[in-house]
Amino acid sequence: MNTIASINHINFNYYFLIGGLFLSYLVYRIFCSLSGDNLFIQTKYRVRGHTWRSIECNKSIPYNIYCTVCGKLMLPVVGLFCECCAVSACKKCHRELDKKFRCKQITWPCEKPFCHLWVNVGSVSRSTADHHEEGENIKKYFCSWCQRTKLTQENVLCDTEECDFFKYRDIIIPPTSVRIEKGKIISIKPQSDNDWEPLIIFANRKSGSNRSDEVLSIFRGLLNPLQIIDISLMGPEQVIRWLPDRCKILVAGGDGTVAWVLNTLHSAPHIKASVGILPMGTGNDLARALGWGAGCSNLNAHSIISSLKQAKLQILDRWKITIRPKRGRLGRLRPERVLFAYNYASVGVDAQVALDFHRARSQFLYRYASRYLNYLAYALLGVGRALDDGGCGGLERRLRVRVGPHAARALALPPLQALVVLNIPSWGAGVDLWSLGSEDDVGEQYVDDGKLEVVGVSSSFHIARLQCGLAEPYRFTQTSHVQIELEGSCAMQVDGEPWMQGSATIFVEPAGQSTMLRPHTNNT
Ligand SMILES: [Zn+2]
Ligand SMILES: [Zn+2]
Ligand SMILES: [Zn+2]
Repeated sequence: MNTIASINHINFNYYFLIGGLFLSYLVYRIFCSLSGDNLFIQTKYRVRGHTWRSIECNKSIPYNIYCTVCGKLMLPVVGLFCECCAVSACKKCHRELDKKFRCKQITWPCEKPFCHLWVNVGSVSRSTADHHEEGENIKKYFCSWCQRTKLTQENVLCDTEECDFFKYRDIIIPPTSVRIEKGKIISIKPQSDNDWEPLIIFANRKSGSNRSDEVLSIFRGLLNPLQIIDISLMGPEQVIRWLPDRCKILVAGGDGTVAWVLNTLHSAPHIKASVGILPMGTGNDLARALGWGAGCSNLNAHSIISSLKQAKLQILDRWKITIRPKRGRLGRLRPERVLFAYNYASVGVDAQVALDFHRARSQFLYRYASRYLNYLAYALLGVGRALDDGGCGGLERRLRVRVGPHAARALALPPLQALVVLNIPSWGAGVDLWSLGSEDDVGEQYVDDGKLEVVGVSSSFHIARLQCGLAEPYRFTQTSHVQIELEGSCAMQVDGEPWMQGSATIFVEPAGQSTMLRPHTNNT
């Protein structure tokens, strides 16, 4: 009785602690939003008119600090600039500018010449160079397509010089090549230039972090706005219909978003796309394994573009996971489920911790999720699960695992609480599980060798020790096929997406490969 009471007491304390942390974070966020920390006008990209944003935001293009309409110096609070074309206006005048001055247009009739789109981004006083001509102002113009700047007194709006896109010519989709019917993009005419490989950006504005919104914003200024896709408004399935046959893709998001894009690309094998990752959210195991890091701290569009240009191709294995439920006690049979994995899949306590986290996050303050707070909550949930086993104790008695192409070999399992199959050398937010502390004849792990690594974890304390590099997992085998028979229900996860799985037979088999990008580093 005494021990049960004390465990309850610990659980109570730990929920109290988490609740307290979440509450204080909420208060902090409210305070921040009141003190004007939220710099974003949440504007949707609009095909007609400009996409206004506060000039205080991070930006990739220059802008004028004087209103283009009334000419007043704008305080950051009232200053707006268009994230696509760089034109700026105060809060009073921006509607007027919407009518007067056109923005970057995503499409343009191919018979008409495509000219520079000059936008006034300030002025240079020549008084210092030439004393007697004081007050003469030279205006500074910026072409929002080719990024060239020009100092002139003339009226550049009548400039008929054609724009060649200059700096980012080989990654921009020229408006003259875009065919639109009934407001929908139908196709993109490929360019004759062999180096042309347009860059497509996928980000989710509703992902709960301002960062993805920022990504959408900074790239609209440099590319054709149609190349920047907010997947909360337009899913990859829609984009795939017009995507050029050869392109580079940057996914700004977590592993789930990357997998969504990769799965969609698999449905259109004629598209030769290579995929880079700008990690956002928690986990980001795929981004870590491919060298893109755990999260991005500094968003600089120009350096992101240059790292994508230098990046190398990396083939990544893809796995099909078929879950065939067994008939339950009531004789009801659930339908078969098919998933695709790029990172890992597991049954047991690590999935249980992910599930606890998933539930806590959807219940409380998903909107206010910050990466570090998430890490903390994750760690605390892991400790909480160490007090009980989450129903995963003695998992070895409820699992039958067979490996090899025809499920030829049965694995003898030691006492364990989780069975994990790995594709990449990063699991549970950055643990290189297969190679941990290995000295002897452990086979190397590659992401493109058509093999999975099968490992076992004995408890969530074991997970904690693995995360600190103080323990080794059970390394079972490397194989191309895994068959798991699960008796009774247990938490399961694929690529960090957890759920409760009832009795079932789970088949894991190869399902092709994806072409990814790996950043170029000097030591590789
Ligand atoms: Zn104004
Ligand atoms: Zn604009
Ligand atoms: Zn230009």
